[in-house]
Amino acid sequence: MEFHVITLFPEMFESPFRGGMIGRAVEQGLIQLRVHPLRPFGLGSYRQVDDAPYGGGSGMVMRPEPLAAAIDDVTGQHPGLWKVLMTPQGEVFGHALARELLAKPRGLLLVAGRYEGIDERVRSLFDQEISIGDYVLSGGELPAMVVIEAVGRLIPGVLGNPDSLTEESFAAGTLEYPQYTRPEEFRGMRVPEVLLSGDHGKVREWRRAEAEKRTALRRPDLARKSSRG
Ligand code: SAM
Repeated sequence: MEFHVITLFPEMFESPFRGGMIGRAVEQGLIQLRVHPLRPFGLGSYRQVDDAPYGGGSGMVMRPEPLAAAIDDVTGQHPGLWKVLMTPQGEVFGHALARELLAKPRGLLLVAGRYEGIDERVRSLFDQEISIGDYVLSGGELPAMVVIEAVGRLIPGVLGNPDSLTEESFAAGTLEYPQYTRPEEFRGMRVPEVLLSGDHGKVREWRRAEAEKRTALRRPDLARKSSRG
């Protein structure tokens, strides 16, 4: 799957995706990640990308021309990308939306804003606006990385163990069951006996019940959704 990003800070994407799961997926050709710097599309000799807001007010606003030129350039070379603006005013990102994005046949173009955001007139160029939560960050780079990682790990072959995808929190509409590893006893707390029993049926049943209990306790909103089917 192709992921493209337009950003003023392309170097931010280097280290997070160099190693780990996404880095490996890039090496294996399961993911193509292309980060396009916005600065070369800036105006004049200073390559200006922002300006003061009409009507006054604090901060600067991203001018429309450099953004539009960068989007045209990337989509000209890679037609059919699903164009997403990262903004706190967008649809709130979650597992279901990650699955929808995974299904975009030509891949994604994620645009990271900066300053006070973008000129309103550029919004019409996007297919979708996505927020990663009800808080404001200084730029759309971290939100774009969140989307790339969350969608990327759903691509078949990216995760070493595909069972993780069906068992993890949110996949089945619940939080995941509690996990334990060695030692059998830690500071007086023992691993539940059922997990040591070797009885796979019982383990499965225990995990299902624990996942439901945990979801009802911590995320009653999810529990209500999954009981409605
Ligand atoms: N003034 C804008 C507002 O109040 O809606 C916020 C601008 S924010 C400081 C700068 C950029 O960071 C945004 O254009 C967006 O790309 C990104 N950003 C900040 N918070 C975000 C969030 N929760 N989800 C997605 N992108 C976000």
